[in-house]
Amino acid sequence: MQKGQIGVTTENIFPVIKKFLYSDNEIFLRELVANAIDATQKLKTLASFGDFKGELGDMRVEVKVDKEAGTLTVADHGIGMTADDVNKYINQIAFSGAEEFVNKYKDNANSIIGHFGLGFYSAFMVSKKVEIRTLSYQEGAEAVRWDCDGSPEYNMEPCDKSDRGTEITLWIDDDNKEYLEQARIEQLLKKYCRFLPVPVVFGKEQEWKDGKYVDTDRDKVINSTEPAWTKKPADLTDDDYRKFYHELYPGQEDPLFWIHLNVDYPFNLTGILYFPKIKSNLDIRKDRIQLYCNQVFVTDSVEGVVPEFMMLLQGVIDSPDIPLNVSRSYLQSDRAVKKISGYITKKVASRLEDLFKSDRKDFESKWDDIKIFIEYGMLTDEKFCDAALKFALMRDTTDKYFTLEEYRTLVEASQTDKDGNVVYIYATDPV
Ligand code: ADP
Repeated sequence: MQKGQIGVTTENIFPVIKKFLYSDNEIFLRELVANAIDATQKLKTLASFGDFKGELGDMRVEVKVDKEAGTLTVADHGIGMTADDVNKYINQIAFSGAEEFVNKYKDNANSIIGHFGLGFYSAFMVSKKVEIRTLSYQEGAEAVRWDCDGSPEYNMEPCDKSDRGTEITLWIDDDNKEYLEQARIEQLLKKYCRFLPVPVVFGKEQEWKDGKYVDTDRDKVINSTEPAWTKKPADLTDDDYRKFYHELYPGQEDPLFWIHLNVDYPFNLTGILYFPKIKSNLDIRKDRIQLYCNQVFVTDSVEGVVPEFMMLLQGVIDSPDIPLNVSRSYLQSDRAVKKISGYITKKVASRLEDLFKSDRKDFESKWDDIKIFIEYGMLTDEKFCDAALKFALMRDTTDKYFTLEEYRTLVEASQTDKDGNVVYIYATDPV
């Protein structure tokens, strides 16, 4: 058995993590499942390059709660870890100025965890003990068991795990019993893991039988692994886009139209933005744009990432360049994120221009629904305004639509005053 001290410079980082990061501690589950997905994808990559020749087999990630034992387990069949890997990736987390940083950002668990790449260690926010059992994909690898009770001391020894991959078990502490509830875990998985690229299994499908729901023997897969935004626009029909919209926001009217974002330079970003049918009274929308990082849900507080006037839009933005674990204030000052915002503005403007040019009748029919958004954009964003001048419309008393330029041409002769100014006459009541 190997015993040792986890390589952190701060004496006792775990109590610190526990204490300060308490507020949004639910993200531990996202971190563990994301690691499991990473490990799975890595093995698939190795296999595709011929560097892994074994059977991939069932690659699903499994999450389990055992209320009686008080444990939550996340298991994958990915690359696994050798003892060396555990030493390197789990035991030697490189901290510098940890204490200082933790104090500075103590109100935001996300930023601390992200800063240190503390993903795995977030498990200690909710656990009194964490165990790793892992078998590397490498030929002749020996399985390793590691555990740690939240002090900086860990135990590590060979074990008898025979299937490849990693199984992480959390003994949930008394303050966090909620994470032993099936319903709570399912809710979290649906929030963070809904579109992860590898199937995540949690519990069994249920069916209605003799007046109640009972488990079947079919595993319940939480996520859809190929959400629309990860596909090529050419492979999607209008119906696919609408279906995905309703999957995101059940119970909504069809969107007016959408924009499929796809860029790989100077940053990576995919996504689909929908123009919803805006109701007359503009309530604060709860169905907002969702931000993802490699299909892992990050947040639906997108202030700063999309321009303000686009907050009315809906849909998904996914970028590996959006830092996964940071606070919103950090997001707003991030340079990559600023570029993203500028790019989205450009893209939305050029899509609107296309729609206007390719099917003006259709564009006009939607104008009354989208004008609030476009006019607000023109007032608040100079670049958008420049672009929107090409397709912003005015409606006359006979319900004909004109661009500003067309209207000018039309009225110039009769409505130029003695100083040579063209006068646009505007009223809200035609009579
Ligand atoms: P990050 O994921 O940001 O690198 P983590 O603390 O979450 O930070 O994980 C540290 C490292 O531990 C990972 O980079 C990976 O090498 C290893 N690791 C964590 N979970 C697993 C897993 N389920 N399977 C294989 N390796 C893992």
